[in-house]
Amino acid sequence: MIETLLINFLFLLIPVLAYLIFFENRNFYYSKFILIILASISMLLCMTFPIYLNSGFIFDLRLVPFILAILYGGYKHAFFIYIVLNVYRFYIGGDGIYQSLLFSTLVFVLVSLGSRKFGKLLPRHRIYFAATVSFAIIILYLTTLSFQTSLNKEFWNLAVHALMAQVTMMVVLVSLLEKIIANMKAREAFLQSERYHLISELSASVAHEIRNPLTVTSGFLQLLNKSESISPKEKTYVEFSLQELIRAEQIVSDFLAFSKPQSDNMVYSDLKEETEYVKNILSPYARMHNVDIQLTFHNSLSKKFDRSQMQQCLINLYKNGIEAMKAKGGVLSIEVLEDKGNILIKIKDTGNGMTPEEISNLGKPYYSTKIEGTGLGMLMVHSIIHKLKAQIKVESEKGKGTTFTITIPV
Ligand code: ADP
Ligand code: MG
Repeated sequence: MIETLLINFLFLLIPVLAYLIFFENRNFYYSKFILIILASISMLLCMTFPIYLNSGFIFDLRLVPFILAILYGGYKHAFFIYIVLNVYRFYIGGDGIYQSLLFSTLVFVLVSLGSRKFGKLLPRHRIYFAATVSFAIIILYLTTLSFQTSLNKEFWNLAVHALMAQVTMMVVLVSLLEKIIANMKAREAFLQSERYHLISELSASVAHEIRNPLTVTSGFLQLLNKSESISPKEKTYVEFSLQELIRAEQIVSDFLAFSKPQSDNMVYSDLKEETEYVKNILSPYARMHNVDIQLTFHNSLSKKFDRSQMQQCLINLYKNGIEAMKAKGGVLSIEVLEDKGNILIKIKDTGNGMTPEEISNLGKPYYSTKIEGTGLGMLMVHSIIHKLKAQIKVESEKGKGTTFTITIPV
């Protein structure tokens, strides 16, 4: 019996290993599909090689990958594995097909209800949660079984084995998965901080040097543009060059903002002045795109920060919101709130929104979906937020709009 149990452990571990080795670098969005496929394979293997107890009872660990797939993948993705389970169960045949269908449906619904809560828990609590869920479900299973068989010694034997095997395996797997997720996050955070470092280093040395020649060139081109001896065609060339120079200067000044050390403009403020200032300077831009900016302020907390950087950060976020609503206009609502000793800034637009994949690209240098975009705006936002030890959260739905929430600890 121990041998078959160990083989089943192996079936459950293989997907975790395969994921770790082959798929860990994939985008998290696709990884849900991979997760479901791997869990299905593991479930099929568990069902094909069940554990035979001496008492004559049979049980398998199919519920472990099934529950994990629902908890981590959410019910939409996990519906696939629910179908796989039942199709395979019909294929195997034998008694209890309908009981199995009913029971798996019940588990699917119950666990789906808990999966949202699971997603919001801390890693350690996820382990307890998953263990409790699988414990409760085995109890449920044994209860339904107890109506069909007598409560003899063999039954209790099965009960103890099934409970121990499932709950132990659940704890082991969730711990492993959480560790993998934590490692992925740590690596991403490391890469991101490495990016800031590189950018600020580069920008400090290069941007200054480039700005002077740019200014000189654009000065001479402006002079040339005023000359009467050049033809209209040549004049358009000069104008194009000037436009491109302005763009280059814009990029250079975006870069320069990174290299400014924090401390040249420190203030202790509740953010009222900053949020209003940014609203005022961007309102002509907003009007041009039929966007209305609404600001609500309910905050009594104050924090020390660099005013010009904070303004720059807000400008970038407001501007992105306005640009997202370019096509059909709308309302950009900004809310400043306090919550448990944190200042929250919510910047909400009703623009074109982003897919999960686009969200995961935010803050990477040069990632932009706009023709005129530089993709440096969000990078700068992240770097400023990083310096403040604050956090930024994005919620977005394609076609509906986006909400950025900045949480600043006081
Ligand atoms: P840029 O604005 O120059 O394109 P950013 O770094 O500011 O660069 O933004 C990067 C990309 O993120 C944008 O091109 C856009 O696709 C996306 N984005 C940022 N903010 C929003 C938003 N509020 N709504 C929709 N997409 C956004
Ligand atoms: Mg931008």
